[in-house]
Amino acid sequence: MKYDVIIGLEIHAEINTLSKMFCSCKNDPFYSQANFNICPICLGHPGTLPLPNQEAIDKVLLLGLALDCQINKISKFDRKNYFYPDLPKGYQISQFDLPLAYQGVLEINNQKIEITRIHLEEDTGKLNHPAGKNYTLIDFNRSGVPLLELVTEPVIKDAITARIFCQTFQQILKYLEISSANMEKGEMRCEANVSLQIKNSWRRTKDGKIVGLKNIKPNNKVELKNINSFKSLEKAISYEIKRQSKMLDRGEEILPETRGYNEKKGETFRQRVKESGADYRYFPEPDILPIKISSEQLKNLKNKIIELPHKKKARFIEEYGFSPDIADILVDDKNLADWTEMALSELKEWLSSSGESWKNQRIKLSKLLADYLISELFKFLKRDKVSIRDIKISPENFAQLILLIHQEKINSSSAQKILEIMYNTGGDPVVIMNDNNLEQSQSDGKDLKEIISAIIKKYPDQFSEYQSGKDALLQFFIGKVMAETGGRFNPKKIIEIIKNL
Ligand code: ADP
Ligand code: MG
Ligand code: ZN
Repeated sequence: MKYDVIIGLEIHAEINTLSKMFCSCKNDPFYSQANFNICPICLGHPGTLPLPNQEAIDKVLLLGLALDCQINKISKFDRKNYFYPDLPKGYQISQFDLPLAYQGVLEINNQKIEITRIHLEEDTGKLNHPAGKNYTLIDFNRSGVPLLELVTEPVIKDAITARIFCQTFQQILKYLEISSANMEKGEMRCEANVSLQIKNSWRRTKDGKIVGLKNIKPNNKVELKNINSFKSLEKAISYEIKRQSKMLDRGEEILPETRGYNEKKGETFRQRVKESGADYRYFPEPDILPIKISSEQLKNLKNKIIELPHKKKARFIEEYGFSPDIADILVDDKNLADWTEMALSELKEWLSSSGESWKNQRIKLSKLLADYLISELFKFLKRDKVSIRDIKISPENFAQLILLIHQEKINSSSAQKILEIMYNTGGDPVVIMNDNNLEQSQSDGKDLKEIISAIIKKYPDQFSEYQSGKDALLQFFIGKVMAETGGRFNPKKIIEIIKNL
């Protein structure tokens, strides 16, 4: 392709404070009764005074610190003036030149994505257009809900990186308990700005603007809005790159427009063309004093920063040898990541106390633990729609079960039985194993040898085929022995005997 792809993101997220941004109404935008959580302040009545929500400010500062942002020691709110029916004041209280946080970074796939700013503002009401009716309804439960906005520099070069940035950002919001950030519910909204420039025809100025070299006018960017899933975001950007490159190839001009995404057709479509930059006539909000942020406050917030999901993923890969895919699954939910790590550390202790070296076996054991977690325990969690936080199995007991498998005291079918009992009633896997006679026979193999000899006699043709090199038949014999013995014996022992015979 003869073009450079340039993508910048603007992401909004509703903050999960108890009350709204500038009044004491409950922050519950999805409350079933419309216009229930409202008051004169969030309805924008003249003469009312907004009072900023400390919890919302702290949460944005925490996010800023976690993303290595600079913090404005003096910050302020500004009025962004525009008319829309869901905005009764005629302006939105937002932040213009002194956002709470600026100049941060989030690393995605070894690529440092620069964050321009994170600021705080208020959400609007919600318009409902009942199907087939000639009127629109307004619900102000969402009006005045604290909303944060993160803006990135135009430094993203492909649709996949843009998607992963949004997903990682969502995980971070959840980890830090700032927002539930559900895209379908509109708690998190991602907009992508996309433009294509001819290679070597442009540069980025110090303040992040894209300008053309040698009097070349850079191509306009298109803003993709109202996209309600990560997958759609990626697809919309990919579609847009193709659309713009075809147009540019034909010598057509890209209009500076806002486009939506039609999931069924897999196409973006025009919503409106920006005539010129909207003039919001920002000015300082006269009813709220500037905010002074003390180093004391920042120090306290820094102590609240926990390990972020993308860093945890890197550590999980490094420390336990997990594959990136497994690490992704494990860190996605913080409760799951914590639970897994507790189980791993118990496993390490159990192993050391039985005289084995953790260091040599950690990768194998971590994999065994993750396999049982993801392919066995997850079945129950999915079936019953429960979180790992609420199950009866303790990480310690789960680790013990993994140790029993590792030490070949139980085979996999017994392990599954024990796991199911643990899931239903809780308890110690060793006790369950003994109560149910599930321990694998540790005999010297004498009776097993007789059983195997008998089976071989029963299937002489298969056995001679196996002997003449048809290795696949080994599985046939293992199966027969397992069936005959009800899975009591260790498969390794069975293989050893068959091979000897
Ligand atoms: P606007 O004033 O049109 O909103 P901004 O400069 O405020 O533009 O940038 C808004 C978003 O658009 C940011 O995420 C930024 O990274 C991105 N952006 C700016 N210029 C371009 C461009 N030429 N191509 C793609 N994205 C861009
Ligand atoms: Mg914009
Ligand atoms: Zn209110």
